[in-house]
Amino acid sequence: MKRRTFFKLGAIAGALSVIKPLSASNLLEASTEGIADGPIILSTWNHGLAANSAAWEILEKGGKAIDAVERGVRVTEADLTNRSVGIGGRPDRDGHVTLDACIMDEQSRCGSVAFLEGIAHPISVARAVMDKTQHVMLVGSGAKKFALEMGFKTAKTPLPEVKKDYEQWRKENKNLFVKPEINHENHDTIGMIAMDANGDFSGACTTSGWAYKMHGRVGDSPIIGAGLFVDNEVGAATATGMGEAIIRIAGSHTVVELMRQGYTPTEACKEAVRRIISKHKDLTNLQCCFLAIDKKGNYGSYSVYSGFNYALKTKTEDKMVDSAFDRNW
Ligand code: ASP
Repeated sequence: MKRRTFFKLGAIAGALSVIKPLSASNLLEASTEGIADGPIILSTWNHGLAANSAAWEILEKGGKAIDAVERGVRVTEADLTNRSVGIGGRPDRDGHVTLDACIMDEQSRCGSVAFLEGIAHPISVARAVMDKTQHVMLVGSGAKKFALEMGFKTAKTPLPEVKKDYEQWRKENKNLFVKPEINHENHDTIGMIAMDANGDFSGACTTSGWAYKMHGRVGDSPIIGAGLFVDNEVGAATATGMGEAIIRIAGSHTVVELMRQGYTPTEACKEAVRRIISKHKDLTNLQCCFLAIDKKGNYGSYSVYSGFNYALKTKTEDKMVDSAFDRNW
């Protein structure tokens, strides 16, 4: 199904939670949250379905969440038709496809890469930063150098068809300092969070960021605490949407800390969204979305605008779920 169709469906499903006060029972009625019995995976957007299937192959055999999330988001990174994740992504306004990713496990170990060019699986480079170095984050040419030392293969970017679109965009946007168009149609990260059979959490987040962003721009996705956060005592959260706004409130960390204080995943995501709304006078195109799972297997999400959905995988379910939201587009 096309994302625009999801926006419409999201608007219908979400209307329930807008019209009525957001009590737990209303949310269940709108089927935006639930409880998993056993392992669970949540991933942002429609591309999360295929990613969840790959991750589930590891979880159903009793494997670790960290291996599942890496395997899962690699599927999205490998999809050359995906224009917002991996080497099929759209470039920045100078024509460079720059990739951001991070990963975090149940021991709060984490790894991240940002502004990485020409490497097909940034999530695995992030994992190598976590596993093989004393650092958390490598960026730009340093991240690339490390990836090559670790034996990652290079890839030529942008892809020819993506370059064509970019050249057209350049023709239409002659002024180099034009504000890159940022809207809900031209970006889509995959953020995946999972709990394994042992009750342990991990998460992964990977993106090419906003199409035609300024060269050097890094969003929330590779920032531990913004695009992703895991605390095995509490749960996990991830984000998609306007990275700058998510960074401003340390979004995913905020969601996990609110769950520590007793908020349900949906309430925690809703409070993070409320903080974003309260800190921005202009909400034009300011879509921000959060997903979370707590230690008991409760899960939920919340977004500024309608249209956000996520892929859910448990022993009994494998489906897209429309998020609760604050307002309609
Ligand atoms: N959060 C990403 C970024 O700001 C984009 C997205 O999730 O759509 O780069």
